[in-house]
Amino acid sequence: MILNFISLSILDIFDIMLVAFLLYQVYILIRGTVAINIFLGLFLFYMIWLLVRALNMELLSSILGQFIGVGVIALIIVFQLEIRKFLLVMGSKYDLSQKISFAKWLDKEDSGFDENIIVQITDACQNFSESKTGALIVIEKGSSLNSFAETGEILKAKISTGILESIFFKNSPLHDGAVILSKNKILAARCILPVTDNRNIPAALGLRHRAAIGISQNTDAHVITVSEETGNIAYARGGEIKVKISIVELSNLLKANYSSFIQN
Ligand code: ATP
Ligand code: MG
Repeated sequence: MILNFISLSILDIFDIMLVAFLLYQVYILIRGTVAINIFLGLFLFYMIWLLVRALNMELLSSILGQFIGVGVIALIIVFQLEIRKFLLVMGSKYDLSQKISFAKWLDKEDSGFDENIIVQITDACQNFSESKTGALIVIEKGSSLNSFAETGEILKAKISTGILESIFFKNSPLHDGAVILSKNKILAARCILPVTDNRNIPAALGLRHRAAIGISQNTDAHVITVSEETGNIAYARGGEIKVKISIVELSNLLKANYSSFIQN
């Protein structure tokens, strides 16, 4: 009997599947962060509103309705970081910046490292690892890191093993914080990065590693860390970190993601 009221079209099924897919994507994006609790809270709120409305409880439903009305703006504010990350992931997945870059069309863009720069970086990391010198190196991709560079000292120096070593040398005034590499240059040192709020990260990973994960969540940059406690090298990208990688692995990752002689 009741089924007479429910008419399902193909479009409705498609609609439901699309909503389920989008909700799942949102869940994947915010799983493990504090945002999941906010999301669940809002979801519960929305469900209560639907129930109250279905039961024709006029007063309560109009009060809750007022909140739902401004809900979209509230959502944008609360999930600002996640929305940013989502758009960034979408953008970099289809490499939009590469496709609409005028500089690239004019063949003037100086992106990507030549083989020598990758060797300079990996040699420095090998030395850091052997001498257990802590290091945190962020390498810019599509999204600009200028706002993070401004939290430290702007250097615009040539990328070389020697300069990287003198920056991270324990007594150097620049050794604290992160180094940012951008467009074949050491853009800045002593930079402060956002620390991830992901609670699923092993307790053994301290602030250096959490900052590496944090910046790789907020931008498309990749990050190398060397632990001063263990000498282990780690590589973070897209909010994930791979710990204890070898120099060969590091070199391959840099070649695959940053080299100008393979991409162009
Ligand atoms: P390690 O294994 O080298 O000890 P860790 O992950 O345990 O690394 P901490 O010992 O907590 O990290 O921090 C080490 C260094 O990481 C700090 O001295 C500082 O230079 C750097 N660091 C910590 N937090 C940040 C941050 N938010 N931005 C940039 N650098 C940071
Ligand atoms: Mg530590």
